[in-house]
Amino acid sequence: MEALQNLLNLSGKTAIVTGGAVGIGYGIAYRLAEAGANVIIANRTEGEGMAAAEALRKLGFRAKAIRTDVSDEESVKNLVNAVVRDFGAIDILVNNAGIYPEIPLLQMKAADFDKVIAVNLRGVFLCTRYVADEMIRRKAGGRIINITSIDALHPSMVGLAHYDASKHGVWGFTKNIALELAPHKIWVNAVAPGGILTPGVQKLNQAMPPAPGMDMEKVMQAFINNIPMGKLGDPDDIGKAVLFLASEMSTYMTGSQIVIDGGILLK
Ligand code: NAP
Repeated sequence: MEALQNLLNLSGKTAIVTGGAVGIGYGIAYRLAEAGANVIIANRTEGEGMAAAEALRKLGFRAKAIRTDVSDEESVKNLVNAVVRDFGAIDILVNNAGIYPEIPLLQMKAADFDKVIAVNLRGVFLCTRYVADEMIRRKAGGRIINITSIDALHPSMVGLAHYDASKHGVWGFTKNIALELAPHKIWVNAVAPGGILTPGVQKLNQAMPPAPGMDMEKVMQAFINNIPMGKLGDPDDIGKAVLFLASEMSTYMTGSQIVIDGGILLK
């Protein structure tokens, strides 16, 4: 049997984490880098990506930022080309970048809907499309991990209809791609977080002015009161699960979704 430390060792592997500068993405980037991977933080805001990569390098890890908008095809192609040029391969892709602006249905404009779908669903498609191309060409297999949400299974709060549509879409995409890529030894899985304390969730709480008809503080408090574990999760709760899926700890898994929600779906 392989020793535990070898199963978790990602030395020599290269991982892309989209939206890896803050929140859940940074929690994931941290654990993959700690396990020895070269981590590429693919973030929209250049300064935040650079700062996160610098923070990881200061800890002795290998990390680099490449400015990327996952909803933009040219930007994604540029990311994939740059990583292959600089590191020779891509072993792990974590599709984490996502947005969740709360907007009740009757206030939701078509542009609001399109933007959430463009980042959360089209972004996952574009990154998967170009990274899988590279993985298939190299014939060395790979891991693709999509960060969905409990909203891929069940709505968590009102005002997120566009988001729930995107996350149900990512879960469907995950399963179909897992089927298509299995012959190439590319394993595709999802992680579905519940409420995790991140800058994005803090912004939801502080939405100023709140969307008409929404009191976000009350909505969030009701959400927390409903969590059997009684608290929001930490980005590292997701980082540890992604490390499991990216490593040799999960050699017989594809097309699965790990729910990490403090038990809220039980309600
Ligand atoms: P967050 O704190 O808002 O951070 C999201 C990161 O994604 C930011 O660094 C952001 O950078 C980046 N990003 C946004 N749009 C992008 C784009 N077009 N291209 C590249 N990067 C982009 O979010 P989070 O709470 O950590 O959530 C991360 C993921 O987990 C999302 O997919 C979210 O749906 C999912 N999730 C979160 C929770 C939760 O409770 N936090 C629960 C379930 C699922 P910029 O600021 O530069 O745009």
